[in-house]
Parts: sequence; structure tokens; C-alpha cells
Amino acid sequence: MTDYANEPAVANLRDYLRIRSVHPNINYNECLTYLRRQAVELGLPVQVVEAVPRKPVLVMTWEGLEPNLPSILLNSHMDVVPVFEKSWTYPPFEARIVDGVIYARGVQDMKTTGVQYIEAVRRLKSRGIRLKRTLHLSFVPDEEVGGHNGMSEFVKTDHFRNLNIGFALDEGLASPDDNFVVYNAERSIWHVTVTCPGK
Ligand SMILES: [Zn+2]
Repeated sequence: MTDYANEPAVANLRDYLRIRSVHPNINYNECLTYLRRQAVELGLPVQVVEAVPRKPVLVMTWEGLEPNLPSILLNSHMDVVPVFEKSWTYPPFEARIVDGVIYARGVQDMKTTGVQYIEAVRRLKSRGIRLKRTLHLSFVPDEEVGGHNGMSEFVKTDHFRNLNIGFALDEGLASPDDNFVVYNAERSIWHVTVTCPGK
């Protein structure tokens, strides 16, 4: 079997999984330190926006050849839901590999996605590839508790507006078979409230 642990991308994911960004009362500093290190390695500038104090949003930016075009946003959340440690076969923040499987809170939802974005950029850049559009990698807090102090405030800021986003990717869901699940949406979400007061 391939020695997964020696794959740099896997090792990088495991480093992220070992950060206990678990609810409640998350201190995101360790995530920021980790992500800043990634950005330095990738040679990408970083901005950290706290629309709400201690609820940082970190954005790495890979400028495209035509930076005036609307950009692509690759978003992920840094937080994970709590654990019942006693119910786990392996410690949830150790990121142990057993038979090629990584056991950790956050490995599906969704630190793996954040690291896949990073590693994809790393590989593209290492091959000297340049993209036409600017790519932003955003890492947001508090998605698992509704994002009220995270993404939902960030999108109201000038920082967000200035990213000039044309299209965004975010998490999907794990699939138990060979089909991949994609949440699709087009035009705009249309939530309608109908009130019938009667008479
Ligand atoms: Zn998630």
C-alpha cells in the first residue's frame, strides 16, 4: 500500500486536523498561524478580516493575468463540531492513519477541502501555470454554528466586495459510493414568505 503519511499533501492535511478548532469557544489563532505558513509557502499575500472581533476570516489571493475580471472564490470553514471522545476508535485530533484511512474530526467536514485548494494551487504554481482570473482562498470561522459571526458578516464588508467574486466553491458532502454529490444553484435563491392573515 502507498505510504500515504509521506505524501506532503497528506502530512499537511494532518497538521491542520490536529488543530483543535472545535466548538465551543474556538480560538482561531492556531488556524491563522497554520494558514499564514501555507500562504508564505505558496507566495500568496494574505489578509485577515475581523468583521466580528476574534472571528477572523483569512483570505489568500493568487492574482490572475487579468485581475480586473471577476474572481473565483474557494471557500472553506475552519471550525468543526464537538466530539464525544469516548465514542472514537482513535483520538479525534490525532489524525492517525490506519489502513490508508485518516481518522479525525474535520477530515470530511471540511479541512480536507481547504487543504485540497491549497495543494492544487501549490501544484499549479510549481508547474509555472498562471490563471487568467484571480483566485481567492477564504477560510471562515463559525460555519457550524450558522456563520452569523463569520461569513454572514464578512459578505457585508468592503473587503469582501473588493474581492469582486464571480463564482464560488464551498463544501459538498461525502458520498458512500463512487458518485460525487454537488450542490447546484443558479440565478438567485428565492426564499418566499407568504403570510395569509385571513379575515
Ligand atoms: Zn462543513
